[in-house]
Amino acid sequence: MQQLSNHVYGILTKFNLLNQYVIVNGDTLTVVDMMLGASDVDHLDKQLRTSGWTVADVDHMLITHAHPDHIGGLNAFQSRSNATTYAHRIDAQIIRGEADGVLADPDELGWFNRMIYNMAKNNEPAAPSRVDVNLGDGDKLDTILEGLEVIHLPGHSHGQVGYYVPQDKLLIGGDVMMRFAGSLRTPLRSVSPDWTAVKQSIRRVAQLDVEILCLAHGKPLYRANPIIRAYADRLTP
Ligand SMILES: [Zn+2]
Ligand SMILES: [Zn+2]
Repeated sequence: MQQLSNHVYGILTKFNLLNQYVIVNGDTLTVVDMMLGASDVDHLDKQLRTSGWTVADVDHMLITHAHPDHIGGLNAFQSRSNATTYAHRIDAQIIRGEADGVLADPDELGWFNRMIYNMAKNNEPAAPSRVDVNLGDGDKLDTILEGLEVIHLPGHSHGQVGYYVPQDKLLIGGDVMMRFAGSLRTPLRSVSPDWTAVKQSIRRVAQLDVEILCLAHGKPLYRANPIIRAYADRLTP
């Protein structure tokens, strides 16, 4: 684990293709998102052990959204941990297997995004998992860390949320944006059901005070405020 701020650690993968984050508050241990599958639970356990914990010690599991690269390991994780699991109420239905995930409207896509869409629509959904707490915008999760706030960031998924740590001016933003080759980018269009909301959510992030932006795909960004605001300004309406 790599310490990113006072309370937040990253389990960063090669090229930052898919990152996982850990919030530490004294004895309270929280993990954000559960990657692709069971082997990632083993990897999480190995990473936690370097700091003296195990998967069984995780108290809270926060989910940003119900895509298979964020919940693929959740079912396996829950067989090894009693952590309370949280997700936005819309994506919670997908995680529980009560609703299907929603992709983009293929008629709105160009050929490249339609190709990715055709691959994504054949993906097996993740095994259904438990969600204990349904979240909504503005919820405060003080039991995890004083002031920790749920920010609804729809678009890439109708029920995507970010987790804002005001004490560290840090946002764990899921796939609200990606960061590759040093630059912020929109998430993949083919798997984002509401493109207007995608851009509104990026503008919403630009209005927060974010010194450190932690994304699932891409290297954590420090001194993020002016960079996010300049990027949001460049987005077409
Ligand atoms: Zn996603
Ligand atoms: Zn993702």
